[in-house]
Amino acid sequence: MPYIDSFYTDTQIKIAPFSTLKGHIQADVCIVGAGLAGLTAARELNAGGKSVCVLEANEIGWGASGRNGGFVSDGFAEGIGAIEQELGREHAKSLFQLSQEGTQYVKDRMAGFAVPQKPMGHNWMSVVRHDVGDTMLRKAAQMNEFYGANYEARSTEEVRSLLRTNVYHQGLEDFNAVHIHPLNYALGLADDARKLGAHIFVNSPAIDLQKLTNGFELTTKNGYRIQCGQVVLCGSAYLHNLYPRIEGAVLPVATYVVTTKPMRTLLERAITYRGAISDTRRAGDYYRLVDASQRLLWGGRITTQKSAPKELAKLLGEDIKAIYPQLDQIEIEYAWSGLMGYCVHKMPLLGELEPGIWSATATGGHGLNTTALIGNLVAEAIMGSSDRYRLFSPYKARWSGGLVGRMGTQMAYWAMQAQDWWEERSH
Ligand SMILES: Cc1cc2nc3c(=O)[nH]c(=O)nc-3n(C[C@H](O)[C@H](O)[C@H](O)COP(=O)(O)OP(=O)(O)OC[C@H]3O[C@@H](n4cnc5c(N)ncnc54)[C@H](O)[C@@H]3O)c2cc1C
Repeated sequence: MPYIDSFYTDTQIKIAPFSTLKGHIQADVCIVGAGLAGLTAARELNAGGKSVCVLEANEIGWGASGRNGGFVSDGFAEGIGAIEQELGREHAKSLFQLSQEGTQYVKDRMAGFAVPQKPMGHNWMSVVRHDVGDTMLRKAAQMNEFYGANYEARSTEEVRSLLRTNVYHQGLEDFNAVHIHPLNYALGLADDARKLGAHIFVNSPAIDLQKLTNGFELTTKNGYRIQCGQVVLCGSAYLHNLYPRIEGAVLPVATYVVTTKPMRTLLERAITYRGAISDTRRAGDYYRLVDASQRLLWGGRITTQKSAPKELAKLLGEDIKAIYPQLDQIEIEYAWSGLMGYCVHKMPLLGELEPGIWSATATGGHGLNTTALIGNLVAEAIMGSSDRYRLFSPYKARWSGGLVGRMGTQMAYWAMQAQDWWEERSH
């Protein structure tokens, strides 16, 4: 399928096109999916001397990787508190440090492309919608001291001087974070991997995977075969009918994004902060100014319905006005949706599923640093240069519940919305 219509596709960089697989080939490693997880793994495996083939069903970064909010920050879809409870403080700290490597990798990689890319902005501020006293101060201190984060608490006055709404109270600012054009990063990474020798094929869905006596054979929809020693599955929420154990463990969850027409003067009445912004509700809003601060890119809501509602632009437009009534003249130019792949534990599925078949997927709604991380770790594992991927081994591929799981997630979302609503009103 071609790219969806989005702000990102309309502002994408030009690189030489990728072709469709036409012929049978061999490679040391075949990667399924050219999102950021697959592309990072491909680049690093090639840099380490492996021959790599990437099969992409659609286009480079066609899935979540080319549609997301563009926030690159440390951490995972699961909160660090929950990871700590599950695995203990030291293990949680090791994982958080890996997540920081992921953030740094994105910054370094984009600066090192043949045509270097820059972040669209720096820092990220997470804000609360009810007064939490000195919680943010304590959180910043704890995260900085123990986890080596680079956070600073913001008072309600500081938040409201940057975000002109009475809805928000205190904030937590992350100075390690950046925000980027994710589709251009994916395209730059694919081009970089290709220059190192990776064979990347678009419009080439893998429809069959068979075990051979010495390796594996993947077949594409056009009937071409790839024989390889190892396979890495990076199809996230878009993988179907190829490896049921992974598909059953990854729950597709949709979220929506809109982008306004250029309207800098109007936007300045509401937002003067140039970093990324989100609220701390369980399924909250996330947004930033893009296109030299002329447009607002706003994301929010989650649902297990795979198709986007007809009135998506209107729906998110109302969400924007509920926070910033002064933006009542706002006009939406683009509206799109994308699927995130979530496991029940909200952590990536990284590991060897059976000898020679790896998964590096399911990064949920916090994938820009974690795809970089798991792409690197799976490459290290296949090259035998480290077994750091084992830090993720407590997070196994558990069945996400199929249709029942989707219904459960939708109901959990409604329950979370109700809880957020209640908390805001009871403070
Ligand atoms: C709207 C939205 C907003 C988000 N905002 C943020 C954010 O601001 N910050 C953040 O950190 N994260 C965010 N995320 C999450 C982040 O985008 C994802 O976690 C990450 O991009 C997942 O990358 P991936 O490579 O694992 O999967 P994807 O990018 O989804 O790529 C999977 C690819 O596999 C291909 N594929 C599937 N099956 C096959 C097959 N059989 N054969 C060949 N190819 C196949 C698909 O076509 C697809 O291109 C957001 C996600 C969405 C949807």
